[in-house]
Amino acid sequence: MLLEGKIAIITGAASQRGIGRAMARTFAHHGARVVILDLDEKAARDAAEDLGSDHLGLAANVADAAQVSRAVEAVIQRYGRIDALVNNAGITQPLKTLEIRGSDYDKVLDVSLRGTLLMSQAVIPTMRAQKSGSIVCLSSVSAQRGGGIFGGPHYSAAKAGVLGLARAMARELGPDNIRVNSLTPGLIHTDITGGLLSDERLNGILAGIPLGRMGNAQEVADAALFLASDLSTYLTGITLDVNGGMLIH
Ligand code: NAD
Repeated sequence: MLLEGKIAIITGAASQRGIGRAMARTFAHHGARVVILDLDEKAARDAAEDLGSDHLGLAANVADAAQVSRAVEAVIQRYGRIDALVNNAGITQPLKTLEIRGSDYDKVLDVSLRGTLLMSQAVIPTMRAQKSGSIVCLSSVSAQRGGGIFGGPHYSAAKAGVLGLARAMARELGPDNIRVNSLTPGLIHTDITGGLLSDERLNGILAGIPLGRMGNAQEVADAALFLASDLSTYLTGITLDVNGGMLIH
């Protein structure tokens, strides 16, 4: 039990086959009380109920400051503390540079980058008062290698922004014993591509992965467990690759 008695918020954790959902199950299995925060209230509540009793499902758009602060207030009311935040909510779009309209840019950047900032801002005062906390941010191998997987350049930019934001927060919040780390998953089998990844493209990507396969959501959840738990108390500002060796350099 690596998270016994801990309170963990995971954003974007209602998606049935998603990375956030796998994290929620894993954290609950390790003794945490988990708050699932997602766009749809019923989906978030159902996902929390699936974990067992004393977990919480809340609706919030992570890109909306008022919704974020209401949701985090509800968590503090209910549990009185916040030990871990996983900034997992994210969307992608397979667009080329010249196809990206302003509204596409806003959508993709808002969820990953603004959402990570707003959620972190909402939990930091509580973590500061506790003098402890772990924030885990979902970036992507697309940030490191300049896309070429599924998402367009705006997705790479959003996820590269997450890396910079996480490292800068790690530097600033270290004195408060708040750790901030990033995960950079490679190609993980979830619904994020909406069935739009062709077999040809998939086979091309697989050819460049030393482990020769896609990752699964559980493998990312296990890495998040490591960063959220006391197994990683001297790690902050790191980028942990979970990509089957796709980016050995
Ligand atoms: P997913 O589509 O299965 O789940 C994403 C979840 O985020 C959904 O439940 C969705 O409702 C929620 N969400 C979307 N916008 C939101 C918002 N504004 N506010 C709150 N919730 C919102 O995706 P996934 O594959 O599980 O991806 C999880 C994270 O991992 C994302 O940040 C993604 O960019 C990142 N990632 C995924 C892969 C991959 O190959 N699947 C690779 C690298 C990084």
